[in-house]
Amino acid sequence: MPEKILDDISHRRYNPLRGTWLLVSPHRTKRPWQGQQEAASKITLPEYDPSCYLCPGNKRAQGDLNPQYKSTFVFVNDYSAVKEEQAEYKQQGDPNDLSNLLLRADPVTGKCYVITFSPSHNLTLADLTPNEILPVIQTWTQIYTAHLSPKSPLAAVSKPSTIAPASNSISAPNAQYRWMQIFENKGAAMGCSNPHPHGQIWTTTGLPEEPSQELEQLKKYRREHNGKSLLGDYAKLEMEKKERIVFQNTSFLVVCPWWAIWPFEVMIISKEHKRALVDLDDGEKLDFAEAIAEVTRRYDNLFETSFPYSSGIHQAPLEGTDEEIEASHFHMHFYPPLLRSATVRKFLVGYELMAEPQRDITPEQAAARLRDCGGELYRKHLK
Ligand SMILES: [Zn+2]
Ligand SMILES: [Zn+2]
Repeated sequence: MPEKILDDISHRRYNPLRGTWLLVSPHRTKRPWQGQQEAASKITLPEYDPSCYLCPGNKRAQGDLNPQYKSTFVFVNDYSAVKEEQAEYKQQGDPNDLSNLLLRADPVTGKCYVITFSPSHNLTLADLTPNEILPVIQTWTQIYTAHLSPKSPLAAVSKPSTIAPASNSISAPNAQYRWMQIFENKGAAMGCSNPHPHGQIWTTTGLPEEPSQELEQLKKYRREHNGKSLLGDYAKLEMEKKERIVFQNTSFLVVCPWWAIWPFEVMIISKEHKRALVDLDDGEKLDFAEAIAEVTRRYDNLFETSFPYSSGIHQAPLEGTDEEIEASHFHMHFYPPLLRSATVRKFLVGYELMAEPQRDITPEQAAARLRDCGGELYRKHLK
């Protein structure tokens, strides 16, 4: 295996999904793993918190009352980052004017939602079974469908489903938005202000930087390789190599990607070419729920703590060219900051900010550790 030498030498790895490089310095982790010294942390949150704005039956900041929901609940963010209505803005004057060249701005409108994952204040995705995660996926799908451009080829394939969606209905947006970002910030380390398990969905008029960069790379690969999917080919290669796989089922592959920046970064990739949530049938949605359950439970088991991360789904834009939609390949990223224990975190500083991202532990080592910590959630045994 020619790659074996890469366990010992500093090298750069290419990220074909973004067209960027990162520095890997595996010799810095040659010392044996010390293991974590801290006591496993117990979740001490109550099942219901009367002061939480996400718990069923509670009042939110602007006076709205949450229903007594049973699985998931969606509402428009009371403090949205973008709004549907705002004052018009257009740059004036000569486009070659220095101000218009160097001080550019574009208005952005959109709609932001909050989605709770469970009515219980103290249950995270790691505590939920695949069947309990399924309504969350169904609700994501429902919101994606409600915002899809009627001109998109995806609008026609929206599959009928027998999975019950969220407890409340989602009203159609006022305008056609271009992008929907589904994401979760988990834990105070990731700036999450409320421990009640929830995620967010922001839809916007423009295509944001990360998906835009990925879409360019996906389109380029498709053009240069007879219509093939970069991530489809990558998933096949990882299944052959078996070096970075954490978990897999019929529809999804969980890997620490070759180009991972964060120590225990993980990607869930659809094995077949799926463009968006609406391409998944009920069985594939359950496989996706199982993949999410496996990632989050292994994360918590790794350092026996409630593992912080930011996660997000990349899929086809709500509105786009046929090429953009066909080049999209459904996947989910998990970016966790923890490095060696519940308290030692990695920061992107210094060299990472000024030159390029850098990591010590290799993605192969990270995958092996995550493979080894499946099984029951550690805190089920804690008293
Ligand atoms: Zn709560
Ligand atoms: Zn992505």
